[in-house]
Amino acid sequence: MTIKEYVALRKEEIKNLVATLTQKPSIAIVQVNEDAGSTAYVRGKLKDAEELGIKAELIKLPLTTTQAELLKVIDELNNDNVHDGFIVQMPLPKGIDEELIKLSISPKKDVDGFHPLSSLVACTPKGILNYLKHEQVPLLGKNAVIIGRSNIVGKPMARLLLKESMNVTILHSKTTQEDMANFIARADVIVIAIGKAAFLDNRFTYKKDATIVDVGINRTEQGLIGDALANLPVKLQTPVPGGVGLLTRLALYENLLEIKGVTK
Ligand code: NAP
Repeated sequence: MTIKEYVALRKEEIKNLVATLTQKPSIAIVQVNEDAGSTAYVRGKLKDAEELGIKAELIKLPLTTTQAELLKVIDELNNDNVHDGFIVQMPLPKGIDEELIKLSISPKKDVDGFHPLSSLVACTPKGILNYLKHEQVPLLGKNAVIIGRSNIVGKPMARLLLKESMNVTILHSKTTQEDMANFIARADVIVIAIGKAAFLDNRFTYKKDATIVDVGINRTEQGLIGDALANLPVKLQTPVPGGVGLLTRLALYENLLEIKGVTK
């Protein structure tokens, strides 16, 4: 099933579930930027909420917002009884420490799952794993190669795949091209999140039954391009656009339902 079909199916399930709830789940989205990419994400998240019957409030703050002012808004959201969860859309204006902001969100309301004490999994890795399982991609005892070691994708993805008993290797900018090629040639599942357009291409060899999960989003003159060249000679490759971004959006609302104590 394509990601689009899978997401449509899951959305229908979530919508039906939400329809049975007397108290609808409620989310707040805090945006402190004018960034075109962020605005598009936020629009997508609001559209999803509407489709699912979830209440969503956009709190748009001016670019002049200081760290202290943002922390005050977060404190209010941490303690209100209105929203089950909230997110602060990145990036934030210069002068605001993004790591500090992520840590100031109560783990109880951290729908993004970024807080180290959060019981929730970060949305991108969560969405990816659910899709791989749905597609019955063999994981146990198989070789996973994760390229990129960010706190929001690479590292949590590695932890999740390790939990699935995969043999997990994380590669990064200090990995030599020779090692990169060797690890890739033996990989059953490759997750790439580095932000380099078409980095995975035909200079590498792949197992023909490998799966490539392309997390990268690169805005180029040719449009939106992933970290992997399209149509590599593997069994399954997620597209960009219409791929991991949709899974991430879906996982946000799966996390919100988890906070509310409602699942599937
Ligand atoms: P990030 O914080 O931008 O970090 C990039 C990572 O890639 C770092 O670990 C870096 O290594 C590694 N890297 C950079 N160049 C490399 C190279 N030539 N070879 C190997 N590794 C290299 O990562 P991120 O926030 O996870 O974002 C990565 C990409 O995913 C971006 O395009 C972002 O837009 C996209 N993304 C998409 C979604 C979605 O929902 N679709 C969600 C999140 C992110 P070092 O640690 O050594 O510097």
